[in-house]
Amino acid sequence: MVQVFDGHNDVLLRLWLKNSTKAVSHFIEGDGEGHMDLPRMHDGGMCGGLFAAYTPSDDGLVHEGLNPLPYGEVDRASAWKTTAEMADILFGIERETPNNGFKVCTSAAEIRSCIARGAIAAVFHIEGVECIGPKLEGLHPLYAMGLRSLGPVWSRPNVFGHGVPFRFPSPPDTGDGLTSAGKDLVRECNALKIMLDVSHLNSKGFWDLARLSDAPLVASHSNVHALSRSSRNLTDDQIRAIGESGGLIGLNYALDFLQDDGALHPALPPAEMLRHVDHLLRLAGEDCVGLGSDFDGAAIPEFIHDVSGLPAFVEAMDKAGYGAALIQKITSENWLRVLEKTWGR
Ligand SMILES: [Zn+2]
Repeated sequence: MVQVFDGHNDVLLRLWLKNSTKAVSHFIEGDGEGHMDLPRMHDGGMCGGLFAAYTPSDDGLVHEGLNPLPYGEVDRASAWKTTAEMADILFGIERETPNNGFKVCTSAAEIRSCIARGAIAAVFHIEGVECIGPKLEGLHPLYAMGLRSLGPVWSRPNVFGHGVPFRFPSPPDTGDGLTSAGKDLVRECNALKIMLDVSHLNSKGFWDLARLSDAPLVASHSNVHALSRSSRNLTDDQIRAIGESGGLIGLNYALDFLQDDGALHPALPPAEMLRHVDHLLRLAGEDCVGLGSDFDGAAIPEFIHDVSGLPAFVEAMDKAGYGAALIQKITSENWLRVLEKTWGR
């Protein structure tokens, strides 16, 4: 089975919301809920990926038609508490999984050795770093804990910048870019070799980061704006810039970032996803396209259903004539290459 290393999931949020001391053991045994648990990851060939810690806004999840109302800011103390609790879940999975079958990795070599022995290789990622202070308080302890990837903002403002609100149709150019604290964060992440994720940045923030960062540009879970005019998707200029930096775009399976009307039709066929992949390959190049499912964070196509359905998507790439070498790049090798380049080891 083709092994998939995936750029984004929200399973830590799903488990945290259960607010149960059994959430970790049930995940390991297979809780059958949401899109991901450990047995289903093995069933689908998911060998690893970035596990996001994300602090929800109190006032989130209220929709008006296609567009949720703007999300409120989160204060640092509550974000720190939530992030610590989600890290506890992530490291709890590592500790409790039998036979060292799940490891939080801090180097590409470690990821490769996990995959080789059939263990799940996880990367600790924070999506929207409200838990970090304006003088970068908290960043170094999080690095010491194993943090190797972060998105400066989620789709709301914080001290580092202005996340792109969810709008359809809308360009990603929705407001101001990075603040001076945001620019300090980029420089310090470069120094620490923490990967910076541009998904959820608006376009000014994207270009601020692109100018400043010395690392490959990575959008862990975003799609093509020319094909689906969501504010969360990337314009062709952004896609080219990511390719030129030797970075990566992870295809997001969220229905609302795939379809041309932004609506949630679960019967979306594989060909609609491959249109995005083809466009990314054409503009960014075949070394710069990967997967970023958004499992447990979004409504996804029926034909995949959950992580155990990954082989159906791999088969669709195969049927479309992608070939084994390109499929290997898209499903894992490009992620490993970009992490290796970013982390420098
Ligand atoms: Zn996200």
